[in-house]
Amino acid sequence: MTVAVIGGGAAGLVAAIYASKNNKVILIEKNEQCAKKILVTGNGKCNYWNTDQNISHYHSRNMDLIESLNTENNRQEILSFFEKIGIVPLIKNGYYYPYSGTATSIKTALMLEVKKQNIEIKNNYFVKDIKKENDQFIISDGNEIISVDKVILATGSLAYYKDDSANIGYNIAKKFGHEIVKILPSLVQLQGNEKYFKDWMGIRCNSIVNLYQDNDYIKSEEGEILLTDYGISGICVFNISGIAARLLDDGHDVFVNINFVPWYKGNNFVNWLDERSTYIGERKLDEFLEGFLNYKLAHVILKVSNIDKNKSWNELSLSEKNMLANNFINFSLKITGTNSFDKAQVCSGGVNTLEINKDTMESLIVPGLYFAGEIIDVDGDCGGYNLGFAFLSGMTAGINVGDLRD
Ligand SMILES: Cc1cc2nc3c(=O)[nH]c(=O)nc-3n(C[C@H](O)[C@H](O)[C@H](O)COP(=O)(O)OP(=O)(O)OC[C@H]3O[C@@H](n4cnc5c(N)ncnc54)[C@H](O)[C@@H]3O)c2cc1C
Repeated sequence: MTVAVIGGGAAGLVAAIYASKNNKVILIEKNEQCAKKILVTGNGKCNYWNTDQNISHYHSRNMDLIESLNTENNRQEILSFFEKIGIVPLIKNGYYYPYSGTATSIKTALMLEVKKQNIEIKNNYFVKDIKKENDQFIISDGNEIISVDKVILATGSLAYYKDDSANIGYNIAKKFGHEIVKILPSLVQLQGNEKYFKDWMGIRCNSIVNLYQDNDYIKSEEGEILLTDYGISGICVFNISGIAARLLDDGHDVFVNINFVPWYKGNNFVNWLDERSTYIGERKLDEFLEGFLNYKLAHVILKVSNIDKNKSWNELSLSEKNMLANNFINFSLKITGTNSFDKAQVCSGGVNTLEINKDTMESLIVPGLYFAGEIIDVDGDCGGYNLGFAFLSGMTAGINVGDLRD
């Protein structure tokens, strides 16, 4: 049986390797080489897995598919696969990287295995259309026709690309009758529309970001936040961005309340500041705040609180103290949008998981058509979860595409 894997990314490469155990496999990639995106992952170091594979790190309109893939057996299989093809893991806080310190090692190991399994690679072949005729899939780039028994569609998402050529994969799935859950950027920066952004631009600080839909609390993340001229960035922001994007798209008001003093675990910050003032309470406020707040950020918060930076803490009224303390812990920022797809690490949305057999990755609409990777409506948090899903889904599609029990 001949299987075509469309897309030579993380999911497609793993799918092709597993499918090659029982089948002739043709790996079709529009670029001049495969695995280009893998090279930019994890800042060039490729965070390819996480010890904590809890499904709470994944997002989908329906979680059954990821739940079904994320078994102990499948996780062990992925880890032993990477060891077998030569990757020694370096595990930092649960994040897996190749010990070599470079994403190139993952790409090279996968490509050498592709070669070892005699998988035929067709680079520079941009699939424009796939039809099914008499149990055969007819693949076309507008010039050359490739005819195969089965297809694994692993064309990825719109994330990171400046053009929308990755749309073709979604369009093919749509043409075969699949619903595409609306594609939105995820793991992406959040935008606001505030004059003070120019003043806080460039500040990095630890914080807790709390996401709100209208007045309802949704989710918190803690970590380093980067304050920018368009809004906020950083891993903790990325991890709430997918939900924020979907809420905005649904027409909700979205707010992020930022806690700039995450180290304070008490419940009365005014008291804490009062105690601090016993020795240095005569200082001007911007000097008083130095030591736990970046001075540029202190200026922004004083300005937003409408409090004169030349006053001292001891000169403030109780309501001014309360307002200031509240703005350190609950700095409210209205979110107006996200940065565009090319700035996003992944997309949320994609092929509806309810239309995919969760044990095999085969389409429930078109027999012989399989899906793997980010084209599917599953996205994960930062931390190796997206490559993790690409590998789990790719492996499952690859194993099952050639299952002669079909
Ligand atoms: C900057 C950045 C950093 C990231 N860091 C991490 C990280 O550290 N850890 C992590 O887990 N995830 C990370 N990700 C996310 C991760 O890279 C993706 O989730 C993963 O690569 C998805 O794999 P995929 O195979 O589904 O898609 P892709 O890797 O995008 O592969 C799809 C392939 O299909 C090809 N293709 C598309 N359409 C066609 C067509 N019509 N014809 C032929 N070929 C086609 C594309 O050229 C591409 O090679 C990062 C992403 C970015 C952008």
